[in-house]
Amino acid sequence: MKENVLVIVKPDGMVHGHAGHVLTRFEETDLKLVGARVVRVTHDLAETHYQHLKDKPFFDELIHFLMGDLHNHQDLVLAYVFTGENAVKVGRDIAGATNPEQADNKSIRGSMGRVTTKGSFENVIHVSSDPLEAEREIKLWFTPEEIAIDIFKTTISGHRKVWS
Ligand code: UDP
Ligand code: MG
Repeated sequence: MKENVLVIVKPDGMVHGHAGHVLTRFEETDLKLVGARVVRVTHDLAETHYQHLKDKPFFDELIHFLMGDLHNHQDLVLAYVFTGENAVKVGRDIAGATNPEQADNKSIRGSMGRVTTKGSFENVIHVSSDPLEAEREIKLWFTPEEIAIDIFKTTISGHRKVWS
């Protein structure tokens, strides 16, 4: 089934210079790149993005991690959207397991991620978990104008296109 997926090169991936390589791995699939932007991650954006993990003990650290506070204040991340057949599964296979130590060696997280001496995951990229979550996330990180084709319904508000 045709799906969309949001990918974010997280601050650890950015400081280690993996953004280009990550994009290449996705370009090698049959998925199509339909949007990309460099985003400054605010506290609000990080909290909304990870809202479903609010009750986890690692939530606060995760928010600060995504804001770059653990990586030289690297608060600029690369976010992009790919679309195509089974985009979520294809993307998550490229990413590998959440814990870099359990991720396939050839996956992005397995080859470029690490678990710190304090036990935190530095897993290089975010990939949406399922198509519904992808839709919520893409609408959070991108405006309709920033996606090159119509992937979700929009309406006009004033002179602007907004997500329906
Ligand atoms: N995370 C963590 N410890 C955990 C589980 C998750 O630090 O035990 C972090 C990790 O950065 C992960 C993010 O929280 O990528 C989101 O967790 P999720 O379960 O959604 O994993 P993902 O979808 O990223 O594989
Ligand atoms: Mg997830």
